[in-house]
Amino acid sequence: MDSRIIIALDQLVDQNTLITLSQLVPKVKIGLPIILQYGKDEIKRVLSRANFSEIILDLKLADIGSTMVNVIKAVSDLGDSVIAHAFIGYENALDELKKYANEKNKKIYLLAAMSHPGWFLDIELIYNVIERTQPFGLVAPATRPSVIRKLRNSFPNNVIISPGIGYQGALPGTAICSGADYEIVGRSIYLSKEPIAMIEKINEEMVKRIEQCKASET
Ligand code: C5P
Repeated sequence: MDSRIIIALDQLVDQNTLITLSQLVPKVKIGLPIILQYGKDEIKRVLSRANFSEIILDLKLADIGSTMVNVIKAVSDLGDSVIAHAFIGYENALDELKKYANEKNKKIYLLAAMSHPGWFLDIELIYNVIERTQPFGLVAPATRPSVIRKLRNSFPNNVIISPGIGYQGALPGTAICSGADYEIVGRSIYLSKEPIAMIEKINEEMVKRIEQCKASET
């Protein structure tokens, strides 16, 4: 099975490690911390020889449309897709972002719910925003499998990517067993002394859990 891990880079790893990681996992999520800390040119340089099929810019956009468009304009050459919060709503916000992203061939992921304990918004509140925006993908927390199941039932055609594996407590494979397509892993990889061995270990655990949950469904 091909790896279903997305690496969350909120701290930079060296270029050789990143090249090897890109041979093991399909996608990378670039966090605001490293864009602010190192600047676009350095991030581009580090990514230039890596072979990820998708670079997702995790800017957690949450503003009026024109401001979000200005943010993307400034960094869009860094990646293929952007993450925006769903809770900001559609008119004069996500509608404008979507229009600009379409023009520039960028994909949008809408963040449906956060993974940390303090998140308090009810998922049903944003269904309508997702329906109207028609994003490419959704971000939903591995720490709340019931939220992933609800989103998968209501939005069967969206790619669901799911953070919360490892440091935030969810076990590899749990989000995919609930309907997600990819699991996002950050600190467990970039803080590890051996990120490559760690990714292989997480991959193995993920495959085992997915096989177990498939077997229990039949
Ligand atoms: O280090 P860790 O594996 O917890 O990283 C999770 C990543 O996913 C971080 O980049 C965090 O900003 C992001 N994220 C999250 N919860 C969400 C959406 C994004 O943890 N709901």
